[in-house]
Amino acid sequence: MNKYIDLHTHSSVSDGTFSPTELANEAKRVGLRAIALTDHDTTDGIADFTKTCEKNGIEGIPGVEISTSWYSSSLHIVGLFIDPDNGVLNKLLSEIRENRDLRNRKMVSKLNKLDYRITLEELIEESGDEKVIGRPHFAAILIRKGYFETPSEVFNELLGDRKKGFVPRYLPMPGVGISAIHAAGGLAIWAHPYSMQNVPCSVTRKTCKTLIKHKLDGIECYYTSFSDKDRENAMTMVRDYNLLVSGGSDFHGKNTPDVVLGLGNKKFETLRIPYSLVENMKRKLQI
Ligand code: AMP
Ligand code: ZN
Ligand code: FE
Ligand code: FE
Repeated sequence: MNKYIDLHTHSSVSDGTFSPTELANEAKRVGLRAIALTDHDTTDGIADFTKTCEKNGIEGIPGVEISTSWYSSSLHIVGLFIDPDNGVLNKLLSEIRENRDLRNRKMVSKLNKLDYRITLEELIEESGDEKVIGRPHFAAILIRKGYFETPSEVFNELLGDRKKGFVPRYLPMPGVGISAIHAAGGLAIWAHPYSMQNVPCSVTRKTCKTLIKHKLDGIECYYTSFSDKDRENAMTMVRDYNLLVSGGSDFHGKNTPDVVLGLGNKKFETLRIPYSLVENMKRKLQI
């Protein structure tokens, strides 16, 4: 495994279950050569993460994942090799987090009106030390209270995008996310370009061209849920538009029990992302 990398992971600072230190230890245990921490909307876990990676003799890459607004949906941009203390990036991330809190309050009232008993205090308690509170925490509480049995049930019936208990939150435009990542010295990667269901390939290519106008650097071609065809299509875009290749598992610890760090789907374990991708990225950044 020590030739392999994972450039998309989450810790307990956002919605994963491994602390940044535990994640760096897990990377050593599975034998990764490099790993990026890409928590949602926060860089708070990076200092502990990179320190432990260094101690473990593996390359710890500072990252972040920003959800951006894309028509009636969202599009995720991963930033890699960012300066976690950069002012421009952190101003955007704190704006996003503040709006998230506002949205959570609105969602609590909405759910109560729909006769689901849930309070803001329970939500804060549920999230513990986590900095980013969101729908997964709502789902956990509703399951514990017996309203639903599984997270997918909660999302399909109540909390999924545009479902009856859903409240949208402020998302920046993709160009704003990409610029903030560049301000922090990083590379902007379109995460899981094929996670949207029923989107024809031609539309994905059109989206990619728009992102390139906003200075996108690369796309994820390796991703846990990608089929071989998805990977081929993504690689074709890389060649056609001269982009960097990235990839990762989107590991969230026990919150994504079917995902193995570095290897992807627990059943197939086919991810194995080569280290050469990191070399190409560093070449572009001249580091
Ligand atoms: P939020 O950031 O609060 O809008 O919540 C987004 C998170 O909710 C995602 O990162 C997923 O972890 C989870 N999520 C969103 N849609 C679904 C779904 N259909 N099924 C399960 N989890 C979902
Ligand atoms: Zn997540
Ligand atoms: Fe994502
Ligand atoms: Fe992710």
